[in-house]
Amino acid sequence: MQWILAVYKEIVLAAKFIKILLRGSEMQKFILILSLFLFLLVSPLIAIEKISISNAAEIGRIPDIEDADAAPKANVPFDMNSLKSKWRDRIKAIRNSGKLPIIDIESSYNPKKLNVRSFAKIMDKEGVALIAFSPQVGEKGFKEGKLWTDNIRHLISADPWRYIPTTVAGIYPAWTEKPEDFLNEQIKHVKEDGYPLMGEFEFRHYPSPPEYKRGEMYRDVDIPINSKVGHRLFAFSQESGIPFQIHYEIEDKLLSSLEEMLTAYPKAKVIWCHLSQIRYQVRSAIYGHDYVERLIKKYPNIYFDTAFGSTESVYPGSRERHARIWGNEHGKVKEEWIRLITAYPWRFLAAMDLGGDRMDELPEKNKTLRKFLENLPEDVREIVAYKAAWKLLFNEEL
Ligand SMILES: [Zn+2]
Repeated sequence: MQWILAVYKEIVLAAKFIKILLRGSEMQKFILILSLFLFLLVSPLIAIEKISISNAAEIGRIPDIEDADAAPKANVPFDMNSLKSKWRDRIKAIRNSGKLPIIDIESSYNPKKLNVRSFAKIMDKEGVALIAFSPQVGEKGFKEGKLWTDNIRHLISADPWRYIPTTVAGIYPAWTEKPEDFLNEQIKHVKEDGYPLMGEFEFRHYPSPPEYKRGEMYRDVDIPINSKVGHRLFAFSQESGIPFQIHYEIEDKLLSSLEEMLTAYPKAKVIWCHLSQIRYQVRSAIYGHDYVERLIKKYPNIYFDTAFGSTESVYPGSRERHARIWGNEHGKVKEEWIRLITAYPWRFLAAMDLGGDRMDELPEKNKTLRKFLENLPEDVREIVAYKAAWKLLFNEEL
């Protein structure tokens, strides 16, 4: 009925205009024509504005501030339903724009170095929908006695469209110097604040190429995965269902203790970061696509993320190309890995591995990630790019 009323109103208005045109004074005619002219001029601008506002709402508003700390802390437990509804819209908007949305399951950041405003613009440009961003406590924070930071709560409040709340990164020094106390803090906050994911714990970690070049050998970490703290972490994930990430160099001598833990805690959700990133080939004869397949078949809750270097990336310690997934041809993934990922796509998660010392590398990391994804069949690519992460974190399909 409403449209009949609207049409009736339009007819009455048109009749008034015609009456003025036929019988009105010169002044009335002038005002009428001027208003029509102004209306015609302004209406497309209003339409454009309306469209861009609605697009901005879908893809997510750009924060007005640069420093997340200027925003109040988001309430905890996090309002996951409201966040997820924004994230779904954002993923859809990126898809509609013709880009493949990415959920980056593994990145960490230095809160002091993050400009939330410009970072949001970069993410939009690159089609990165969401980052599971794990804040770093850093050396200064650790010296002040900190094992935890609430920074992600400021970040979520400043920009609720782009970040998945993730617990503090398990790196030097907070994790490596005080592993037990550090883990206590993580568990406490997962329980109280409702974090859906725990950041990367470095159990066996060689310094990254930049750390190696800077001589930061304190980043050479060796905390046995089957130690007391490892057992507590696996047990917590098993009972809570909250996934966690491990950095665990691929070496023959380390595999049996990992398998011991996967056997003891079959329900613990483990994301083994850096698929097929082998720093020293001489130390790794067992691992390969067939070994990964065996793990997938045997352990129902092991996942792998795809944060590895580009074809050219060389590990300075061994001078080897450590991202072993690439074939000889530039940008081409080895067939056997494509076959494996295609057979079990839900076990593989896209990741960029940004860090506090490389916040500006998003475009480059995204380029490498997309080059890898291009090798996969289209439906598999969509799963690895974002659907598998959503399913793992929220137990539902997008
Ligand atoms: Zn790592």
